[in-house]
Amino acid sequence: MVEKVDVVVVGMGPGGEAAATELAKAGLSVIGIESRLVGGECPYYGCIPTKMMVRAANALAEAGRVSGLAGEVSITKDFAPVAKRIRDEATDNWDDQVAVDRFEQAGGRFIRGTGIVTGPKTVRVGDLELEASTAIVLNTGTSPAVPPIPGLAETPFWTNREAIAVTEVPSSLIVLGGGAIGLEMAQAFARFGTKVQILEALDRLMPLEEPESGQLIADVLTSEGIGVHAGTAARNVSYESNTFTVTSDDETFSADHLLVATGRRSDFAGLGLATLGIDTTSRILDTDANLQIADSVYAIGDITGKGAFTHMSMYQARIVATHILGKQGSAAEYHAVPRVTFTDPEVGSVGLTEQQALDQGVAVGVSISLLPESSRGWLHKSGNEGLIKLVADTDKGILVGATSIGPAGGEVLSMLTLAIHERTPVSRLREMIYAYPTFHRAVEDALGRLP
Ligand SMILES: Cc1cc2nc3c(=O)[nH]c(=O)nc-3n(C[C@H](O)[C@H](O)[C@H](O)COP(=O)(O)OP(=O)(O)OC[C@H]3O[C@@H](n4cnc5c(N)ncnc54)[C@H](O)[C@@H]3O)c2cc1C
Repeated sequence: MVEKVDVVVVGMGPGGEAAATELAKAGLSVIGIESRLVGGECPYYGCIPTKMMVRAANALAEAGRVSGLAGEVSITKDFAPVAKRIRDEATDNWDDQVAVDRFEQAGGRFIRGTGIVTGPKTVRVGDLELEASTAIVLNTGTSPAVPPIPGLAETPFWTNREAIAVTEVPSSLIVLGGGAIGLEMAQAFARFGTKVQILEALDRLMPLEEPESGQLIADVLTSEGIGVHAGTAARNVSYESNTFTVTSDDETFSADHLLVATGRRSDFAGLGLATLGIDTTSRILDTDANLQIADSVYAIGDITGKGAFTHMSMYQARIVATHILGKQGSAAEYHAVPRVTFTDPEVGSVGLTEQQALDQGVAVGVSISLLPESSRGWLHKSGNEGLIKLVADTDKGILVGATSIGPAGGEVLSMLTLAIHERTPVSRLREMIYAYPTFHRAVEDALGRLP
């Protein structure tokens, strides 16, 4: 049986849900298909529950900083409120009924199942063949990638999905992967008392960010008692007597639990994209400025490879909905993509790294301002680690990249994102007034240091 509809949305991550809802509210007939939970990774396994862990862990760290600033506090650590909050407030115990209801109240029709693209205008879900007269929108996201390390697949390792569901913190944990997900969880668990070892195969933490970011975070984590092992590739994993053993070329690590945070994967073959002539071995989908991968077939979110962030998914959803509705709208731009790793200090960055700018042939000028040397950093004292790094195009006199690390690194990032988004001349940024004594005054200092 073939059912006709205006739009079929396959996968309802943050962007898919937003686009489907907007299109349904605009009066189109919209079917949203989701195999797991409406809202996707972010509310149930990603951003929200991890940030609840981070928030609680940071409260413990702040309490620890009272000493030397304001007397002494005694801390009794308890993970139970975090686990409860994740269940009650973030995930409804991993139940998406509220989100399903919200979509249906907006006028959409929801189908729980796995959608498979069967043609340029058709999607199959179960026995049902859907024909989309206006558009197909794909927002199928990513799932944890598990590297082919001998022995690993046979062990009860965790990915982010199991780690955020714990009710007690492990006594010891090995984290494979020194990117955002691994680092946030490593620090949060460690602050609750877990003995943590991080193994990163590349030669530094946060390999996608500036080297200064990886170094600063490695120093902070090491000072908190976390074992940081960059340049350490896991060669074998085993699990015996409730203990994981991970061996690298020259070391052996053991712990009660193992968290694999080595990246994300998507499954374009399973989604049926070969039927559109798309190379399903590719890790990402090629999109045009309106996010189309083929005529009237749109992609949103992690699968577009423009940044695996909720804000990217939502941004692209807006563009897709606008285009499908035939409204006037801007094409997608990616020169000022912000991202934040919610370690303490937070590592915010936007645009190009110095190396990326050099690779693109930009006439690069860089400057760094250290947060502890700013007035606010100095008076903040304990917990003041951070820096501002600016990457300028000296020919054009604008910023093309920036990093903001600090207690509020992700918030300070906003002014740098605006500057890069708007291509504001560096000369104009230097003329601005920066409130005293804020962390963002370090931006003014860094601007003054640019060549
Ligand atoms: C631990 C962790 C922490 C994170 N923290 C942050 C953060 O702080 N800030 C941030 O911006 N981002 C963060 N992210 C990333 C963020 O979660 C994702 O970028 C975000 O969810 C957007 O993804 P998406 O739109 O591509 O879809 P996803 O959220 O991946 O959702 C896709 C949905 O499609 C469904 N699906 C897949 N295939 C099919 C099919 N064939 N049929 C039907 N349904 C299907 C899946 O079940 C899933 O629900 C984090 C991720 C993780 C894992």
